[in-house]
Amino acid sequence: MLRLPTFTYLAPRTVKQALAMKADAGPDGMYVAGGTDLYPNMKRRHQEPRVVISLAGIRALRRGPTVRRSAGPPGNGGGLVLGAGLTLSDLAANVKVRKRYSAVARGAELISTPLLRNMGTLGGNLCLDTRCNYYNQTHEWRKAIDFCMKKDGAICWVAPSSPRCWAVQSSDLAPVMVALDAQFLLIGPGGERLVPASRFYHNDGINYLTKQPDEILLEVRLPAANGWDATYHKLRRRGSFDFPVLGVAVWARWDGTTVRDARIVLGGVASYPQDVPDAAAALVGSRLDDEVIAAAADAAFRPSKPMDNTDFGLAWRKEMTRVYVRRALEEVRERRASRRGRSTTS
Ligand SMILES: Cc1cc2nc3c(=O)[nH]c(=O)nc-3n(C[C@H](O)[C@H](O)[C@H](O)COP(=O)(O)OP(=O)(O)OC[C@H]3O[C@@H](n4cnc5c(N)ncnc54)[C@H](O)[C@@H]3O)c2cc1C
Ligand code: SF4
Repeated sequence: MLRLPTFTYLAPRTVKQALAMKADAGPDGMYVAGGTDLYPNMKRRHQEPRVVISLAGIRALRRGPTVRRSAGPPGNGGGLVLGAGLTLSDLAANVKVRKRYSAVARGAELISTPLLRNMGTLGGNLCLDTRCNYYNQTHEWRKAIDFCMKKDGAICWVAPSSPRCWAVQSSDLAPVMVALDAQFLLIGPGGERLVPASRFYHNDGINYLTKQPDEILLEVRLPAANGWDATYHKLRRRGSFDFPVLGVAVWARWDGTTVRDARIVLGGVASYPQDVPDAAAALVGSRLDDEVIAAAADAAFRPSKPMDNTDFGLAWRKEMTRVYVRRALEEVRERRASRRGRSTTS
């Protein structure tokens, strides 16, 4: 049985207290929310904080399951603000999220298992550590190969001549948030700052977040849900349990039956949620007919370059990019057609 190392557990009641505790602990301190990623990682000595500062008792982060309206531009109804401490179960079950942001609900309900979704939070999911077959192993296993660059070692076993780590962005909600152009509100010792989801992530398996270690993710702001649609499709071995080895988030803004703007973001194929702008550009001005969808799927396939460090063969995972992008776009097209059908008959 893997055991947790000894550590001091602190339970602040406010964000201010949490920031002060982190300042006192310095690099030895880490925040924890649901602990479904950090505690297993600590058991394997991936992260070794001597002070763990729990965010679970801070009510301001939970704001839920109620989702409150943000002050959006006049007339568009505003967007929604999600507390970073909302559990994945609350997020997936919330009626407003399900109705207006179904891609977020879908991403949340596809994460791991019901028990883990009851503990795991939105914030923890968006700050999830990157993953690799040579890293997500016990300390003894990693020691036997003399570790790797991501923790305690010097070499990358996936690409031995590479100066960087290629561990994979494996959060289901990260690509969804980038596709939706969500904004993340962070607070640190210097105050608050708002960061677009796309700028929250680095394409680097070790330094995968632009967030500073002492910053807390307070909330996620979703744009007003008007005139666009989005979806998320996930590839994994076991449908009830596993991390994504490919995630496809698609966002499309409609003008009647024509796509006016679009984003396609891939998860599980790089160290960050990978925007594929050429694929999105193929959709703009079209009615999403089969040829356009095939061209977009092809344009997403080309830059999708999974490494040989997660489940399944990399060539097959790359090929699946084409298939999953096509399926996601077909879903968005069908939903648009059925909504327009309903509005013309009513
Ligand atoms: C068996 C198993 C299967 C899983 N499957 C999936 C899956 O399919 N898809 C998926 O996406 N994930 C999966 N996970 C990972 C994890 O359960 C979820 O990503 C979960 O949402 C993590 O949230 P948490 O609150 O438990 O994070 P924690 O473990 O508490 O924290 C994770 C990281 O985020 C930081 N953090 C947490 N909250 C904040 C905050 N508000 N501000 C700043 N930093 C913060 C912590 O310091 C830590 O570095 C799985 C985990 C397990 C054990
Ligand atoms: S990609 Fe390389 S350096 Fe990064 S975790 Fe895997 S083996 Fe280690």
